[in-house]
Amino acid sequence: MATLFIVGTPIGNLEDITLRALRVLKEVDLVLCEDTRVTKRLLSKYEINTPTMSYHAQSKLAKADKILALLEEGKNLALVSDAGTPCISDPGMLLVSQVREKFGDTISIVPIPGPSALITALSAAGVSVAEFTFLGFLPHKKGRETLFKEIAESKRVMSFYESPHRIEKTLESLEKFCGASRNIILARELTKIYEEFVRGTVEEVRAHFAQNPDRVRGEFVVIVEGNFHILPK
Ligand code: SAM
Repeated sequence: MATLFIVGTPIGNLEDITLRALRVLKEVDLVLCEDTRVTKRLLSKYEINTPTMSYHAQSKLAKADKILALLEEGKNLALVSDAGTPCISDPGMLLVSQVREKFGDTISIVPIPGPSALITALSAAGVSVAEFTFLGFLPHKKGRETLFKEIAESKRVMSFYESPHRIEKTLESLEKFCGASRNIILARELTKIYEEFVRGTVEEVRAHFAQNPDRVRGEFVVIVEGNFHILPK
């Protein structure tokens, strides 16, 4: 029986990879990547010579058919994304569901756990995250305002991914909908040289980035503390 492994890879520091992930990447017939150049950097660090093939959310159906055919032939494949855990705000979900649909349980889909920016950020955020809601990337237009209203009213910690191009606009919206005094945490460049956790009220965090424009770059996880000021109905 062929296996499709879903392999978590580092979100920055290339040492953050499990022994099992390295073994699987070495042993499979083909590694399906988001960007083969990014994955080859990781593979070459560990002297892994497994062939790679690009696969992303916009991959043509023909590519998915080719992958399904390889599994049918009995080839073992590993799916990775550029960073972190595939399918978590990353390509792969469609492929995994196609494999499940076409083959049922005759092909194994095996997760090889590894880092995810979300869990890495929450683990060191220093807020109670026994329960939280993850929103992925916020929509740019339709539904954006509704989500900010939801974030404003949530008693649960809310978290989402944001790009450096939109982070200032997002902070502005957080101030508008949640108020300047809501506590937030921005986890930036996790596991990389310039890793930082910026904690404070929305107002303080905005001031931090206004004073340090050189830090409005890299990758961000945004964590918004719950609204503890809503009285029970
Ligand atoms: N699948 C990935 C995971 O499991 O974390 C997420 C991929 S998603 C396309 C990319 C987003 O994840 C970035 O825009 C950023 O919000 C977040 N991210 C990825 N790496 C990060 C890092 N090193 N530090 C902070 N955020 C990161």
